[in-house]
Amino acid sequence: MKQVILTGDRPTGRLHVGHYVGSLKERVRLQNSGKFDEIYIMIADAQALTDNAEHPEKVRQNIMQVALDYLACGLDPEKVNIFIQSMVPELTELSFYYMNLVTVARVQRNPTVKTEIKQKNFEASIPVGFFTYPISQAADITAFRATVVPAGEDQMPMVEQCKEIVHKFNSVYGETLTDPQIVLPDNKACLRLPGIDGKAKMSKSLGNCIYLSDEPNEIKKKVMSMFTDPNHLRVEDPGQVEGNPVFIYLDAFCKPEYFDEFLPDYKNLDELKAHYQRGGLGDVKVKKFLNKVLQAELEPIRERRKMWEAKLPEVAEILQQGTKVARAKAQDTMKDVRHAMRIDYF
Ligand code: ATP
Ligand code: MG
Repeated sequence: MKQVILTGDRPTGRLHVGHYVGSLKERVRLQNSGKFDEIYIMIADAQALTDNAEHPEKVRQNIMQVALDYLACGLDPEKVNIFIQSMVPELTELSFYYMNLVTVARVQRNPTVKTEIKQKNFEASIPVGFFTYPISQAADITAFRATVVPAGEDQMPMVEQCKEIVHKFNSVYGETLTDPQIVLPDNKACLRLPGIDGKAKMSKSLGNCIYLSDEPNEIKKKVMSMFTDPNHLRVEDPGQVEGNPVFIYLDAFCKPEYFDEFLPDYKNLDELKAHYQRGGLGDVKVKKFLNKVLQAELEPIRERRKMWEAKLPEVAEILQQGTKVARAKAQDTMKDVRHAMRIDYF
């Protein structure tokens, strides 16, 4: 069986360090592993419109921003197809048929949808399109016959729901669709990176992000303003590292060599944590270290982004080419789907 990746992001803003550790880094690793026959990276503009119907210009403009962030992180257009979701109308078509295989109650039980409905104040009036986005996401994944979906933890219920649709479709219409697997980051701290405000998830919609394109002074300002352990008031107080965003970020980003380089008094992260827990280590010192770590991680990404920013027509060409390849694949799957559903009339 062909090994195929499908994953993507909503063009609702620039990408942030949560995306990087939760999904982008893994994508680049898989891209370079040589184990995949096809890789599709989707800029999900149609999905972004489900809760941004009144802001089409915002979605349009962010398509380029997300593409630049991809290239900045090292996604290689020679190895992956970066494409625009709405330019592959077969995905919409497929969603329409999948809707017959899912109940309203089942979508209502999806924990990610539940959280997002609350977050977006949609309780009283949820747009139908937004409510059904897990179904359209199943169409996105299956249209490419994806076997692997590298994503953050918030996507687990989505892939679960997709698998149910695959099984239902195959049992009703005959073996047609491919069953996908989610691939989460190995590092626990990267599953769901919290926001700089300490909220459970760094998210474009929550405005609590460090962006991949942030300039060094913005990164520093954000790190120095980060939420830590609220009970760690004086330097000598014992502090908590569990649930403390500054330490979660260090868990996600710190490499052993950064201690030699920036904080030689400590051998490793465990020593630093132990000192914080005992008391006697101030937040400012830890934040300054985190700032240096993030600066070191983000500098090459920012530089590569600037290089691509200087050749936007080339980026547009990459999107066009990727979309062409993606559409051909989706059309192919749609042919099989129509045949299985007995709607291939002529
Ligand atoms: P929005 O607020 O518009 O939903 P978002 O910041 O949640 O934006 P998405 O485009 O929905 O970002 O997510 C894209 C991918 O990045 C998904 O695979 C998701 O799991 C991952 N991701 C997003 N935020 C985080 C995070 N804070 N930690 C780890 N992974 C994340
Ligand atoms: Mg999201």
